[in-house]
Amino acid sequence: MLDHQTQAPDNLPLFRRLTRFLNRSCHISRDFDTMKPEELTSFRMLLRLLQARLRGDVEQLQEEAFSSSEAGGDQRSSNHMAEMGSDAWDLDFALQLVENDQGVLDEISHALKKFDEGRYGLCEFCLEQGLPETKSRIPKARLQAIPHARNCVDCERKKELSR
Ligand SMILES: [Zn+2]
Repeated sequence: MLDHQTQAPDNLPLFRRLTRFLNRSCHISRDFDTMKPEELTSFRMLLRLLQARLRGDVEQLQEEAFSSSEAGGDQRSSNHMAEMGSDAWDLDFALQLVENDQGVLDEISHALKKFDEGRYGLCEFCLEQGLPETKSRIPKARLQAIPHARNCVDCERKKELSR
């Protein structure tokens, strides 16, 4: 616990650079339709970034991030993003939520697993109730605030009430 807190400030400048990078290269639209591939990529990147920050290994992630941006040629799409008026990440806000919670790393791993299974952004509780995927989407605004959220707000409330 103490280690984590004393270690954190060291990689903070690097983390902020990566945050700015993510803000330049992400494309999150406000609509509630299917997640576009580039939006999924951005959410995945955000989760990896939070994970790396919590683990204290941001440097390794930096190499990945910057090398992939060179390969992908993101210049044009970031202009596009400005035109679209997409929301920017508020990672400082996200970090305030996660900073002192060890369990969050597990939640982040879980969310990354959902990517591999093609279920990222879907409410697990809705799916358990038998709702189709189109009715089980967690709003993007919620995912931007809590990228590792397992459930939509309604289901989260229901779960809290049943406790
Ligand atoms: Zn739900």
